[in-house]
Amino acid sequence: MDKAQDSKEWSIRSLIPENHPRKESLIIREKIVEGLEEGYVAPQGLIAHGRGECFDYLMGEKTQQFAIDAIKASVATLLLAKHPVISVNGNMAALVPKEIVELGKEINAKIEVNLFYRTVEREKAIEKVLREAGADEVLGVGEDASATIPELFSERRRVSPRGILIADVVLLALEDGDRTEALVKMGKKVIAIDLNPLSRTARMASITIVDNVIRAFPLLIKYVRIMKSYSREALEEIVKKYDNKAVLTASLKFIAQRLSEISL
Ligand code: ATP
Ligand code: MG
Repeated sequence: MDKAQDSKEWSIRSLIPENHPRKESLIIREKIVEGLEEGYVAPQGLIAHGRGECFDYLMGEKTQQFAIDAIKASVATLLLAKHPVISVNGNMAALVPKEIVELGKEINAKIEVNLFYRTVEREKAIEKVLREAGADEVLGVGEDASATIPELFSERRRVSPRGILIADVVLLALEDGDRTEALVKMGKKVIAIDLNPLSRTARMASITIVDNVIRAFPLLIKYVRIMKSYSREALEEIVKKYDNKAVLTASLKFIAQRLSEISL
């Protein structure tokens, strides 16, 4: 797999000039397109990615302090959780498969496939990507998604009885606002990674990391390794002090400030 992955990266890179000013962004796009071609990214995932890119551009394509604050609160919440679950969709599988698996192992979280545009083929394709990235178990595929989230209609409400159904904390990204709201109504803490601080998901979540999953996942792993040694009390204190509204406001102020200072 690693060899195939390397040669894939190599072929993408060979098409993009070394000195292209937006090389990283183009490589990320290629990963999403590849996911589409391999059947695990939905066509709508391309549109979602474009919306994310726009917000990332506005934020300077760097992790800002408000995201770091949210990441630390997320790590404290995940370390305190009894049943943490990482909910995975096509875009996430395309962008951060290894990091999903690594974070899952660090915090002892289940990994569950959950799709807005659910088909068994896509579920299985995502499971394959995650297993190739090192996952031992992937929930929410086929018959495993036999439980339902109340208040949601359509295929999106199907979840694993061993995963999201019993989770106390769910980490998700590129999620729809309705489902985020339904999970919060079920009493779960939702940690959302979402570049758009105005989305319903960003506003409904318990903790919103306004950052790109590409940068947020490695940082989550980094802070888990640091904060693992913290006492329960210290972790609880971080969670208690965290204010998601203040973080969302800070992200909007940052964008406004940045735009007001740009001279063309
Ligand atoms: P909502 O239903 O929550 O209001 P939406 O319908 O506007 O959201 P979707 O298109 O369903 O949004 O989901 C995509 C979301 O994910 C967008 O808010 C987009 O900014 C964000 N997004 C896209 N790519 C990334 C990425 N790489 N990292 C983090 N967030 C991303
Ligand atoms: Mg939506």
